[in-house]
Amino acid sequence: MAKNVYVVGNWKMYKTAREATDYIESLAPKIEGTKGMIYLSVPYTSIAPAAHYAKETNIVIGAQNMNDARDGAFTGEIAGLMLKEAGATFVILGHSERRHIFGESNALIHRKVLRALQDDIQPILCIGETSKERDAGKTDEVLKEQLFSALDGVPKEDAEHLIVAYEPVWAIGTGKTATLKHIEEAHLFCRACLTELFGKKQGGAIPILYGGSVKPENVAEIVDQKEVNGVLVGGASLDTDTFAEIVQKIAGGGALKKTTTPKTRKPPIRRKKKE
Ligand code: PEP
Repeated sequence: MAKNVYVVGNWKMYKTAREATDYIESLAPKIEGTKGMIYLSVPYTSIAPAAHYAKETNIVIGAQNMNDARDGAFTGEIAGLMLKEAGATFVILGHSERRHIFGESNALIHRKVLRALQDDIQPILCIGETSKERDAGKTDEVLKEQLFSALDGVPKEDAEHLIVAYEPVWAIGTGKTATLKHIEEAHLFCRACLTELFGKKQGGAIPILYGGSVKPENVAEIVDQKEVNGVLVGGASLDTDTFAEIVQKIAGGGALKKTTTPKTRKPPIRRKKKE
């Protein structure tokens, strides 16, 4: 059965602005004609030039993090509105590197999700257990805690703007992909949580992506699993040939429907600002 599919590339702290525009010029013709939208999450300094070069392509540009405040005396930080004006349509929040290297808490990630929705930037909320938590049989507990805390208070009508990425920490950048069984079980569990949070219709429609050592050789079987609506790709997104191959494998055959994109989606319901 055809299903919506998302392919998100996360460049992390790689590529200068010049390298970013070269990349887009090289990638665009390689994925021309594929169905759906390709999301590229690039470093801050590459957002504006990448967004400019991505016009008229099926690539949208986003960021990898943002502050939870609208603005303020926060040296070195960046606000959602700044990202939006630069051309970002989405932002990755709660990536495991932010949680584990920079100590971001569930409470902070929750505030960032609310801020992103308020600033009309589509949040891609990353969740995932460590190997220690998996070995202790705590995967479901961790996923539930991360989902419920991050999405607390998000109105049902905003659910259509959310994307969730399940990324087991032990599979990120390690070359160790989770087994298909593990991926399907985790995604079914995340879907149950989202349905509990937002109801069957809204919770059932939130895309859930898998991330963790995705490559051209394993992407098709991963996306075949129940409740997998696409992939978040780190290392393998850095090279245009490899990334284009991933896109072609799951969105090139014409079997997949076009995704709802930030360019066409309705803006989130405006809520009164709390400041
Ligand atoms: C990531 O950065 O979110 C990621 C999944 O990285 P990799 O594909 O390199 O494991």
